[in-house]
Amino acid sequence: MDTFELQDILRREIRLQGPITLARYMDVSLTHPDHGYYSKQDPLGRAGDFITAPEISQMFGELIGLWACVVWQQLGQPTAINLVELGPGRATLMADMLRAASLVPSFSEAITVHLVETSPALRAVQAEVLASNKPEWHDNDTTLPAGPLVIIANEFFDALPIRQFERRGSFWYERLVGLAEDGQLCFVHSPPQSVNPMVPDSHKNAPDGTIVEVCLAASSIVARLADAIGQYGGGALIIDYGHDGRHAGVTFQGVKDHRFHPPLKRPGDADLTAHVDFGALSTAANTVYTKTYGPIAQGTFLETLGIRERADKLMVKADAALRAEIRSALARLTSTEGMGTLFKVMAIGKSKMPPPPGFEIA
Ligand code: SAH
Repeated sequence: MDTFELQDILRREIRLQGPITLARYMDVSLTHPDHGYYSKQDPLGRAGDFITAPEISQMFGELIGLWACVVWQQLGQPTAINLVELGPGRATLMADMLRAASLVPSFSEAITVHLVETSPALRAVQAEVLASNKPEWHDNDTTLPAGPLVIIANEFFDALPIRQFERRGSFWYERLVGLAEDGQLCFVHSPPQSVNPMVPDSHKNAPDGTIVEVCLAASSIVARLADAIGQYGGGALIIDYGHDGRHAGVTFQGVKDHRFHPPLKRPGDADLTAHVDFGALSTAANTVYTKTYGPIAQGTFLETLGIRERADKLMVKADAALRAEIRSALARLTSTEGMGTLFKVMAIGKSKMPPPPGFEIA
């Protein structure tokens, strides 16, 4: 009955105050404390609605753990470092990172784990998986402690709420969520605006009919992370599907049971995402004290970090079935048919520091 409760909550809100932004719709649908998609279930993995890179193979998290270790070395091996993950899901990535980190005991001992997570259901999974690492949880990034930090975010930014703006003639309209005559949720247009300050300059003269997606939450989070990196030193790694900012058009979508799902149907029952605008993230993260790298293709990034060598090593001790599994995971993570090109990797580092691993030529 959850579905209808969330639908009713949204309907009531719209009846009371008029159409809501898509950002409000996404936020309530994904993170409502009782009925939100991430709050009430564990959507990840083979049996869930989608599968993420760390759930495909341990190699992904291991390489990122070594990435974090090199960033720590570049910082001069501080005795304390905050290892932060945004949206850690089932904590598979963090667990694999920490296992790889334990190869360098002085790094391992320096780490305090911080998890930014809104979902009570996933926090419970994370608490179990990472029990021995005593992580600290945060509702959002604003409560992260001062000090050098390495931040990782895999498939986090695509879940952040976006707004959509549509050009018609010489006006911009915001696409809002309202109610159809039969009471179903549907897209409606805001009153026309001749100037819209949220539409990036690069799209200001877009042709008639263009729809532009803007994620303010992503830009403000990244700006705060860049501030922390600039002030205390460290790095951030952002991995997601997305584009470099030149893209216009609708990428907002719903996914349920590994299939597309109409995004305004059954809020709270399907994952809602939009492609990440890495151009906007770079703009927000580039300050006097920081530098951004990429985005580069996930396949290129993982290959530069040595995923093929890691796969070869794992295959030495594996039986035939496991060898086939490793080979298939490698292909899914790196090939163009898999996640290798669609998924992109961007990093943030402190200015005047060497580039983080994997971005030497990016
Ligand atoms: N990084 C994991 C999980 C990705 S799913 C992996 O790669 O497998 C998205 C994660 O972000 C989930 O843990 C979800 O609960 C969390 N999340 C979504 N929106 C959030 C928000 N606004 N604030 C904090 N966490 C959020």
